[in-house]
This record gives sequence, C-alpha cells and structure tokens, in this order.
Amino acid sequence: MGNTESFDVGVIGRGLFGSAAARHLAEAGCSVVAVGPTVPGGDADIYSSHDDEARLTRRLDRDERWAPFTARAVDAYRSLEERSGIEFYRPVGALFASRPEVDGKHGVSMAFLRDHGRPEHYWPAGEPGWKQWWPRLDFPATHEVALDPAPAGYIRPKRLIAAQEALTERCGGRLVDDVATILETRVGGGHRIKTFTGSTYDVEQVVVATGAFANAFEVLPVQADITVKTEIVILGEVSEADANELGEYPTVLHQIDPDGIDDIYMTPPLQFPDGRHCIKLGANTTLDTWPTALDEIQHWFRSETDPDYLPLLRPALESLWPDVDFLSLRTKPCIVSYTPDRFPLIEEVEPGLIVAVAGNGQGAKGSDSWGAVAADLVLGRSLPLGET
Ligand SMILES: Cc1cc2nc3c(=O)[nH]c(=O)nc-3n(C[C@H](O)[C@H](O)[C@H](O)COP(=O)(O)OP(=O)(O)OC[C@H]3O[C@@H](n4cnc5c(N)ncnc54)[C@H](O)[C@@H]3O)c2cc1C
Repeated sequence: MGNTESFDVGVIGRGLFGSAAARHLAEAGCSVVAVGPTVPGGDADIYSSHDDEARLTRRLDRDERWAPFTARAVDAYRSLEERSGIEFYRPVGALFASRPEVDGKHGVSMAFLRDHGRPEHYWPAGEPGWKQWWPRLDFPATHEVALDPAPAGYIRPKRLIAAQEALTERCGGRLVDDVATILETRVGGGHRIKTFTGSTYDVEQVVVATGAFANAFEVLPVQADITVKTEIVILGEVSEADANELGEYPTVLHQIDPDGIDDIYMTPPLQFPDGRHCIKLGANTTLDTWPTALDEIQHWFRSETDPDYLPLLRPALESLWPDVDFLSLRTKPCIVSYTPDRFPLIEEVEPGLIVAVAGNGQGAKGSDSWGAVAADLVLGRSLPLGET
C-alpha cells in the first residue's frame, strides 16, 4: 500500500457530474483529488453513463426545476472550450417531430416549442417545408415538426470531461485512475478514501459522483434513493461522403411509437473512436430492465445486445433516413439513473459528504451546473448555483 495523501476535497467519480464538481472546487482554491476510472471496464469492471460520442443539448426546458440549471450550463460551454482549448459543443439545433396529440417526454413538447419558438420554425402535419433544409430526413406525414435552433445541438461528453479535467489540473487538481471501494469517516473529522488498487486519500470533504454505481460500493453511509435503467443505442455507420453531407443536420427528438420503442433521439453522423462515422439513435424500449445489483449492471455492459435490440431499433433508424445506405449497424449498452422526483440527487448526506448523482437520462447537458451545485455545498454556499 502506498502513502496516504491529503487533500481538501475528494471527488469520487470522474464522469460528467464529478469532473464539473472537481473543476469548480479546484478553481475555488481547494486542493482536489478526483478518483475514478479513466476508461470503462478495467480490472474493477466499472462503467459509466457518458461513454459515448454525443449527448443532446438544448437551452429550452419546460420543466422549471431543470431550466435554469441547464441554461446556465449551456451558456458556459464556449467559455469552457476557450479556456481549456478542447472543443466539445456543436450547436446544430434540434428538430422535434410528433403527432399533434403526443406529449413530449424530452423536456420539450410540440406545444411548448410552438409557444417558445418562432413561427418560421414550425411546420404543421402534412406541410413538410422543413424538407428544403434537411431533404434526406423523413418523418411520417401525420407529424408536426418544429426546430429548436442553436444553442440546441449536441455535446461530446468525453471531450467535455477532458475540458473540465484540463482546467482542474491547471489549478493543481490531481486525477487518479482508480476506483474507490470504501469511504471511512476519520476520527477527528474528514474522510478516508480507499481504492481498488490499495491507495488511500485523506480528505476534509468528499463528493460522491459515481452515477449509476452510487450504491455499488461502501462509499455512502445510506443507499442513494435512485433506480437504474438499462438504455440502448443503435449506431448506423455511414460513408464518409454521407458523413460530410449530413454532419450539420440537427439532432432529432421523435415522438413516434413503433412497436417496442418510444422517445427516440438521434444525432447526425459523428466520428467514433474506431474511425467510423455513425448516426446514433437511442430510445426507450420494452426490453429495458431495472438492474439493482452490481453484477447485474456489469453483466448488462458486457452483454451482446445486437440480437435482441437490432430488430427493434433498425426500422426506426432506416425510416428516418430512407435513402441512406448504412454500411454497418450495431447496438451499444448504456445505463441511466433516476430519482423518484426525476431531479438530480445532490445533497449533503452527512457533514462533509455530498452525493451528486442521477442525471435522470438528461444530466449531461447541464452537468456543469450540477457539478457547481455539489461544489457550492462543499464550499458552504447555498443554492442556487454559485459562480461558474
Ligand atoms: C444512452 C444515453 C443517452 C443519454 N442521452 C442524453 C442526452 O442526450 N442529453 C443529456 O443531457 N443526457 C443524456 N444522458 C444522461 C447523461 O449521460 C447522464 O445524466 C450523465 O452521464 C450523468 O453523469 P454522472 O456524472 O452522474 O454519471 P457518469 O457520467 O456515469 O459518471 C460517473 C462516473 O463515476 C465512476 N464511478 C462509478 N463508481 C465509482 C467508484 N466506486 N469509484 C470511482 N469512480 C466510480 C464511473 O466510472 C463514471 O465515470 C444519456 C444517458 C445515456 C445512457
């Protein structure tokens, strides 16, 4: 076992919430150690909700609890990019398509967009004026279509984390590629983080931002009140020519109810780490499950999802892009965590121990704000958000 190092604050989890919290704390002058696996899997077999190439973002949100946090985070994207030198944001806009009577579940609805958008960004059912802008997309004739323009678009979550961490390191913050297995309360105050590889870190305060794995280790004194749901995406590989032509298309939120799937969201083509350019489509499906034990979550991430999920998701992808020849199709497992009130769980659970988890399927876009809320609790500031 190595020597024990001491810091003002330990952040457990280097995902979207944790990296934002660590950056806010480091910039506020705290000495910070952030502990978490740099890549998913590894010896400890721990994954994340952000291991992907895109997360949809919008400033608009009809949920008044979420709206100010999301807006503030979106407004900070460009400054984070400029200060870190790492680009992660593409404000390509978002197209919302649904039958008139369907209520949106993605923080916006057609009625909301009609009220908050501009008339020239709305097309009634059967009037596909939007086709002049995005001719290769297709929606059923029964669907209204509305554009939520920039700043809506997408962010690249791993690059956002890289930007947050570059700024954390610039302020002297320490990043540790490890998994916290035990958090002990120290006699006399503070906490001791023990890790999978046998390291220990003594900290005065700690932020637990371990996402869907919040209850998997002995890092919280009581179980976080969250549930975890499996989530799936399909990646449709396109040619380089299509990637160039479609790269500036908007993201899509599509309320259609084909058999077995719902709440479709989609990105334009993105380049994935293997070099392929893929359109990504995700949805809730009737096959989704709610794992509770750590080994169930791990099993989900390691499982072969194509046989069950390709037949469900492929028709939706192909119907939205009728003339795109997909070079390959594959699915990828992911996970989301929810609270009973569908709002992130960020609170002090005991003196000096803050939990910051549960993006409720939409925590990426506002993650800088959720990290700031956790940092404010550490710093003794009160809600709403501190300075970003
Ligand atoms: C398929 C999919 C699509 C989504 N689409 C959107 C979208 O379009 N827009 C949007 O805003 N949001 C979206 N989300 C939600 C968003 O990705 C999550 O809300 C966000 O990632 C939550 O951030 P987090 O930091 O809480 O969790 P994570 O990003 O999962 O980070 C938690 C980190 O903690 C680490 N960790 C776990 N246990 C330990 C431990 N014991 N010690 C150290 N580290 C540990 C994990 O490895 C992970 O890196 C989507 C999620 C999924 C799965």
